[in-house]
Amino acid sequence: MAKPAISVPQILDKLESFHGCQEPCWPVEPYLFLVWWHCGYPASDAACARGWEALNREVGTSSWQLLATPVPKLARALKPGGMVPELRAMRLKEIASRIDNEFGGNLRAALTGPLKDIRKTLKKFPNIADPGADRIMLFADMAPLAAVPSNCVHVLVRILHGKERENYGVNYREAHLAIEAETQATFDSRKRAYLLLKKHGQELCKRTNPKCEMCPVNSFCAYFAGHARGSAKVAAKRSAAK
Ligand code: SF4
Repeated sequence: MAKPAISVPQILDKLESFHGCQEPCWPVEPYLFLVWWHCGYPASDAACARGWEALNREVGTSSWQLLATPVPKLARALKPGGMVPELRAMRLKEIASRIDNEFGGNLRAALTGPLKDIRKTLKKFPNIADPGADRIMLFADMAPLAAVPSNCVHVLVRILHGKERENYGVNYREAHLAIEAETQATFDSRKRAYLLLKKHGQELCKRTNPKCEMCPVNSFCAYFAGHARGSAKVAAKRSAAK
């Protein structure tokens, strides 16, 4: 594999100059994150924020409030967050019930010990896989993991290596390894990487039709260079055919 034209710290500096400093827009406490994550579907920041606001206003977010509220009322509160509110209401009930019955009402206190055990516990909750578990542990200041935003795993892969792979797990791992190898293993540094890649993936480096012309790293991006070469070949073929 060819050596990338830019390092991860240089990418992050350029993204920060363009997008500005980023802050998480979700609750970082593990239990509250699980609730927030089910407030929207599909689970975008905007959808979750809408459902979260309505849930806070109409029900509350503590486990006892969720358990005391009938599913239809919970579903009505979650409706501003998007699709399948009834299913999300049942999931919230399940989460609240487990928090009370298995963790004595305090999930964070139970998330101790080896990382693999914490990860295993988190992944038992609905809709939490490795990317979600990494994100929870990083933003709750439990472990400075090289977490990658689950819907933006392609960003670093494109910049460093060109077109992303078909396999989601391979992209996640490549992005994870690049962050791990090239950023400091501190909470601040890993959170900054996560938030900037997320912002960039949402605003410019979208999964389809990335806005490469406006991108602050386009002159170092392997994906963009590949596209430019492809376009030049097409133009050359067209002019030869005339
Ligand atoms: S140039 Fe295009 S593909 Fe590369 S990072 Fe920017 S938006 Fe993404």
